Amino acid sequence: MRSAVPVFLVAGLSPNPNRASLRAARHAAAGAAKLSARWPLVAASFFFVSELIQAVLTIDRVADFLERFAPTHLAEEWDNVGLLVGDRRRPLQRIMTCLTLTEKSIDEAVDKAADLVVSHHPLPFRPLRRLSSDTLQGRRLLKLIRAEVAVYSPHTAFDSAGQGINERLAQGLGLSRIMPLVPAETEFGSGRIGVLKRAVSAGDLAQRVKTFLQVEHVQLVGRVEAALKTVAVGCGSAGELLPQAIDQGCDAMVLGETRFHTCLDAEAADIVLILPGHYASERFAVEQLADVLTQEFPQAEVWASRREHDPLAWL
Ligand SMILES: [Zn+2]
Repeated sequence: MRSAVPVFLVAGLSPNPNRASLRAARHAAAGAAKLSARWPLVAASFFFVSELIQAVLTIDRVADFLERFAPTHLAEEWDNVGLLVGDRRRPLQRIMTCLTLTEKSIDEAVDKAADLVVSHHPLPFRPLRRLSSDTLQGRRLLKLIRAEVAVYSPHTAFDSAGQGINERLAQGLGLSRIMPLVPAETEFGSGRIGVLKRAVSAGDLAQRVKTFLQVEHVQLVGRVEAALKTVAVGCGSAGELLPQAIDQGCDAMVLGETRFHTCLDAEAADIVLILPGHYASERFAVEQLADVLTQEFPQAEVWASRREHDPLAWL
């Protein structure tokens, strides 16, 4: 019981104690309890130093949180997720979230002195053989590295997570009894399937998609008046999930975007497709992720990129 108070003191000083910090705190507190009996001054110094260590926010602590929030084992095999650029030990004050690291979002991160960018889409994505200014990717990475901006990408781990993009998209469209479309070994997985409380027309669901994602246009495959009850969702380019949605008897599927031949497959299977665009289907979640990080790390300044935009214009 002697260590109970020091554990509380050391762990309590951390604004966001996690399991690792609690373990470290318990370990430290056990030593501190022994010290305090003999050398109260040494023990006081020990607590002070522990307090300082716990209070400093580092890239590692944010990466550790993100790895639990969007567990990396949920990422697709071909993906590249986690801390992709940066030094975990560096202190951190400013975090920017964005969908993609483009010239505009990188300039914003550098101009605003972000210490970490949480970019949904990974950079780098494919294995690098060289890092030079000869390529667009090389120039982007060099600019980030020179400005000491770290990069964390949750990508498909965030798509599939319990509070990830597809879950939020399904909730936002008013689906209930939401389940993963392709369950992973854990309780989560790729895409989502759910039911509407009352059947609605494809036109009505398209309107819900527009309202939730704040877009003026969507593409539609199928009849506007088709009655829908069971709906699947897959953010981004998740057309490969269409066969599972058909197998599970879905009346409709909301995808960010998909290929022409996937649209033909949907038409042939008599399943409605609603396509609001890749950007819109994921950008809202990047904004919500900034809110999650603000709540978790109130001592940091967190914002969703204000300069990135959909490269596609909808006329
Ligand atoms: Zn995407």
